[in-house]
Amino acid sequence: MKYAVIDRGDSMSQQLAEQLHKLAAASELERNDDQPELVVSIGGDGTLLQAFHKYVHRIDEVAFVGIHTGHLGFYADWKANEMEELVRMMASEKPKIVSYPLAELEVQTDKETISYVALNEITLKGADITLVAQINVNDEPFEMFRGDGIVISTPSGSTAYNKSVGGAIVHPTIESLQIAEIASINNRVYRTLGSSFLLPQHHHCDIISKKDQRLLLAIDHLSVQSNDIRALRCTVSSKKVHFARYRPFPFWNRVRDAFIDL
Ligand code: NAP
Repeated sequence: MKYAVIDRGDSMSQQLAEQLHKLAAASELERNDDQPELVVSIGGDGTLLQAFHKYVHRIDEVAFVGIHTGHLGFYADWKANEMEELVRMMASEKPKIVSYPLAELEVQTDKETISYVALNEITLKGADITLVAQINVNDEPFEMFRGDGIVISTPSGSTAYNKSVGGAIVHPTIESLQIAEIASINNRVYRTLGSSFLLPQHHHCDIISKKDQRLLLAIDHLSVQSNDIRALRCTVSSKKVHFARYRPFPFWNRVRDAFIDL
């Protein structure tokens, strides 16, 4: 089994990473940073986002597992003091592979079309003032959006930014994208849906910039600022992210433990 480790960069996560490499060497696991089969993320959900984007080019060959050094995460379920058990299982057991949907984004600029894949969400905001954008669903006009921005989240990203803007939490077996508004303007002149909505697989949503405006685009934690973004096309990706489960990690328990059980 070839593995790699991505840590958050703080001293605790770095020490745990060193410890994991020692335990793994003793268990004859092969460290391979270029072509891992298993990527262990040590930190939080934000660290798993970094690990995902580092290995997104090998998304079909890689499974992720997360160790959290703070609070229990949505992507990171192992505690620091369980690392020996995790390494033992990595060396001796075949994990159950759980796959979650991803969001695919095509960005059309004046010069080119660029593709991205997001694990949590795609966020579009106006850099200066209000974002003005035409939203089309399956090539039909849907609404003219005016407001702070739009969040297009995956099911596993629905517990992140999407939840903060009032979107619903979606189980990752429901292959969909959720389109949620950030502070839309609704009055006698301007009208938007006013609630989030879900797009199933094979539907697409286009967000077309409707004036000369600087836009802030974020793909998970990665941001892009640009004067020449003309349109975005968002779909459920044909690719999925894979997680290695050495024990159950039920989604609704995570939701309860993160947001209700204090
Ligand atoms: P950050 O601003 O340092 O942290 C954002 C927080 O979101 C962290 O507590 C992180 O958990 C948590 N998080 C990440 N993915 C999650 C998920 N799928 N479900 C529930 N919580 C999740 O930024 P970051 O760590 O680089 O993460 C980038 C993410 O921040 C974006 O993808 C976006 O979802 C989120 N964000 C949220 C808001 C908001 O809620 N108003 C605004 C901007 C961005 P850990 O502490 O375990 O890392």
